[in-house]
Amino acid sequence: MPKVTFKNSNASFYQSVKKAVDAYFKTENLKKTGNWKLYLKAAISIPAAIGIYLFLLLGHYNWIPGVLVAAFFGLTLVYIAFNVMHDACHNSFSEKKWVNNMMGMTMNALGSDAFIWKIKHNIVHHTYTNIDRVDDDIANGPLLRECTTQKWMPIHRFQFLYMFVLYGVSTLSWVAGTDFIRYFRKKIHNTPINKINVEQHFIFWSSKLLYIFFYVFLPIHLLGWLPWLIGFLIVHFTMGLTLSVVFQLAHIVEKTTFDVAGEAPKQIDTEWAIHEIRTTSNFAPGNKIVSWFVGGLNYQVEHHLFPQISHVHYMALSKIVREQCALFGLPYNYYPSTGQALYSHVRLMKKLGRRN
Ligand SMILES: [Zn+2]
Repeated sequence: MPKVTFKNSNASFYQSVKKAVDAYFKTENLKKTGNWKLYLKAAISIPAAIGIYLFLLLGHYNWIPGVLVAAFFGLTLVYIAFNVMHDACHNSFSEKKWVNNMMGMTMNALGSDAFIWKIKHNIVHHTYTNIDRVDDDIANGPLLRECTTQKWMPIHRFQFLYMFVLYGVSTLSWVAGTDFIRYFRKKIHNTPINKINVEQHFIFWSSKLLYIFFYVFLPIHLLGWLPWLIGFLIVHFTMGLTLSVVFQLAHIVEKTTFDVAGEAPKQIDTEWAIHEIRTTSNFAPGNKIVSWFVGGLNYQVEHHLFPQISHVHYMALSKIVREQCALFGLPYNYYPSTGQALYSHVRLMKKLGRRN
């Protein structure tokens, strides 16, 4: 596994921004974890997903309403992933560990595995963001070249177009492939998974079996295999495309930087927090509808500095983080709208698709 360390700066940016953020929570007398707004989101979206699932299974639809309900189900699952699962897996949903663990299990209900995802996301991605050969989020197979240090192939010329199809099948690949590969190889890209205990083995296998029962066996039994297949693919395509695009807009845009780790130990020339600032970007700041839907993940800069703080606070923290970046002469990457961030992502992927 490539060994990567960060430089410890004396004039620590992280110390300063953390102090300012802590002062905000103290002055406002707020907890860093979720609030009633987040709990309301969970209390509505989880029963809504179950309701739409039953609606899909027990109703008989013509193909247009059927497609629309399946897509809506996919979007509801994505909403849960952004708003509930992501906070819970970072332990920021609640102060109570058991609540976070329970809500984190929504990841299993979506087809993946909370234990594996926490290592992939919280440790590998959040620590080694945009470091090629370590960050699993930029290791999406040979068909996608997401930074200049990845091998170029002629087909990459068209990646800015076909990437959307690959994004669309990304959650299907968790369910059918990558989770099992990680589980059996005990590795997330090049980072080993130290130990999987008996409880985690049990949760992994029972979740996969329950997934097959509820998402495959039962719908085929009630609807027939063709309506199930069409619905299943639509649900996954909606989920995969939305999740991937939102995560890509945070790191794979023109304003962010990339690094690479080799066989020799690598030291990043900044402290970790500055590395996060440079490799992360926000989009559509101030857009309450976007923030509501993506669970504050349009404020990825704040999320990457403070993943243990619930997303419900990011909009308020953005002013502090922005001021601190200016104080330290650091960039505060953002795109004013989702469209501009998406356009930047497409442009970057097009550029990376050219031979260089
Ligand atoms: Zn995160």
